[in-house]
Amino acid sequence: MQRIRSEQLYEEAQEHIVGGVNSPSRSFKAVGGGAPVFMQKGQGAHFWDVDGNKYIDYLAAFGPIITGHAHPVVTEAIVQAAHNGTLLGTATEHEIKLAKELKAAIPSMDKVRFVNSGTEAVMSTIRVARAFTGRNKIIKFAGCYHGHADLVLVAAGSGPSTLGIPDSAGIPPSIASEVITVPFNELDGLRLALERWGNEVAAVMVEPIVGNFGMVMPKPGFLEGLCKLTRDAGALVIYDEVISAFRFHYGSAQTFHAFPDQSLIRPDLTALGKIIGGGMPIGAYGGRADVMAMVAPLGPAYQAGTMAGNPASVLAGLACLEVLKQPGVYEQMERLAVKLVDGLQQSAVRHGVSLTINRIAGAFSTHFCNHPVTNYEEAQGANSELFAKFFRLMLERGVYLAPSKYEAWFLTTAHTDAEIDETLLAADESFLEMSKN
Ligand code: PMP
Repeated sequence: MQRIRSEQLYEEAQEHIVGGVNSPSRSFKAVGGGAPVFMQKGQGAHFWDVDGNKYIDYLAAFGPIITGHAHPVVTEAIVQAAHNGTLLGTATEHEIKLAKELKAAIPSMDKVRFVNSGTEAVMSTIRVARAFTGRNKIIKFAGCYHGHADLVLVAAGSGPSTLGIPDSAGIPPSIASEVITVPFNELDGLRLALERWGNEVAAVMVEPIVGNFGMVMPKPGFLEGLCKLTRDAGALVIYDEVISAFRFHYGSAQTFHAFPDQSLIRPDLTALGKIIGGGMPIGAYGGRADVMAMVAPLGPAYQAGTMAGNPASVLAGLACLEVLKQPGVYEQMERLAVKLVDGLQQSAVRHGVSLTINRIAGAFSTHFCNHPVTNYEEAQGANSELFAKFFRLMLERGVYLAPSKYEAWFLTTAHTDAEIDETLLAADESFLEMSKN
């Protein structure tokens, strides 16, 4: 497969755009480097690059594109929005409609506020939690990604329960020292951290179903225990559902059938993004009415946005949710994911490739290892070189995966059996290649 134009554009991009990409996750750094593919358009479950090559897309733009690219209902909503002014800078009726949809699907959200990205949503929940509790510290879980705000770009320290060290340059130690990182899927680290710093902790932040070190379900009792320990310490529970909301069913992780008693896993605040904007920039946060009453103009916690709740994003989000409400939509994505995962697993076994797949409804992650992946450490333990090789072999066969071993494969409503069959053929050839050396 020739990608001459992509190579040329990458050269040019690097002269003008830092690193040639506008988000590091789009670079191919984690899969051996070189020019990323420059895409020209997306339609349904497919991408076409600037050299005319066609790919089946499992990236779904890192999650939001659940109805496939350029879905007619979503596209029409954006066109209509454009005709009536993409940004009015005033309140609109559309925002109420989307807020009502979100509240109906995620009942812990008494009150909602729209922002422009997942990062902003998370950042805002932290400010509100701090304002409400009068405390400063945050506890998060190793490997969970919550956007690029200072406070959440903090990694684990050397022990299971130490104050954070920055995960990025440019984050003052004074900020990192307000963050405690503990392991996901075990309560001991959290318990220890709360014992030590509990009365300083404003909130415990978690991806209730993880999407950022592969797809990882919380173990039975983990979320229940997390909520109880956090409340006992007088802190708030914040769920980052930027990936998980509307991904697995029409609702979010906190309303997912996998959890027997949802009253025990109810968060105080929730951060949303991605799917709720139908592919347009959006974020939202919300939760308990008394906590959200801290937010300006009602309360003293300031949070604002020129673009927040703009009609284009809100109408695209409403259109996307309308598509997702149609009967059978999630069942179809899940059926295809099961078929794909079964096929991948059989093929990997046939060629002697060690592969652990974590699937949750229509999304899954592939880890080249022979142990289960239930936390960040185990995900780190998967073979990065083998993933990079698999990524390249699949790319050459017209299958576009996220360029990182930690990212998920996402099915969309546009995928069909034809794409799955084609993908399985490509995977079988790829595993055969991989088994040769
Ligand atoms: N939270 C989670 C769970 C995410 O996966 C992401 C993005 N991948 C974010 C927050 C940040 O969202 P955004 O990129 O829209 O700022």
